[in-house]
Amino acid sequence: MCRHLAWLGRPRTLASLVLDPSHGLLRQSYAPRRQQRGLLNADGWGVGFFAPDRPEPVRWRSARPLWGDASFASVSPVLSSGAVLAAVRSATVGMPLDESAAAPFTDGRWLLSHNGRVDRAVLPARGDAESVCDSAVLAAHVFAAGVDEVGRTVREVARLDPEASLNLLLTDGTRILAVSWGDPLSYLVEPDGVVVASEPWDDDPRWVDVPDHHLLEVTPDGLTATRLEDR
Ligand code: GLN
Repeated sequence: MCRHLAWLGRPRTLASLVLDPSHGLLRQSYAPRRQQRGLLNADGWGVGFFAPDRPEPVRWRSARPLWGDASFASVSPVLSSGAVLAAVRSATVGMPLDESAAAPFTDGRWLLSHNGRVDRAVLPARGDAESVCDSAVLAAHVFAAGVDEVGRTVREVARLDPEASLNLLLTDGTRILAVSWGDPLSYLVEPDGVVVASEPWDDDPRWVDVPDHHLLEVTPDGLTATRLEDR
């Protein structure tokens, strides 16, 4: 299973979000603490973020382990953004290993990362998926169904594939949508923004665990969590 995080708030450097936290994504790529399946997230990584005066996000992805990426380590302290989505990948058996299978996936203004796995046979075949990887096909399905329907879409996919795990993070630079479905999810409210992540990036007691089967929405005005069964 992969690990991922989303940040919405005042600009922070990519290094401060991805590499520097004591138990952040870099550490989680080789020593996750709450991962239920797989011990290494060495099959690539990716970060998508929004820059001033550009409505659509930019991405930096790789098929290699995050810990070996000296160029990202060098440049990330000078790249800043107020809306970031990053992931490290542990490929599901049978999935492609190239960069195009690494999250985040994108459609227009939206970025999406999937932590989990799903039987592609239950998803509609889509020519616009960025990869044949299950997560990319799921991303294309979520985008096509409409991101505001993501709760309904996840419930429907889970009904068709009860074994699926479907934790999702999405952002369009103005809000974060996050789904907990089968894997842990936590958030931390900081004075300058909110981070939502597969697992806490440090031991700060203010981290809050999101119950399973919930939809979290983070906007500049606050945060709401809704049980998906109630929607
Ligand atoms: N199924 C996805 C993949 O193969 C995500 C795997 C994960 O969450 N580790 O990349």
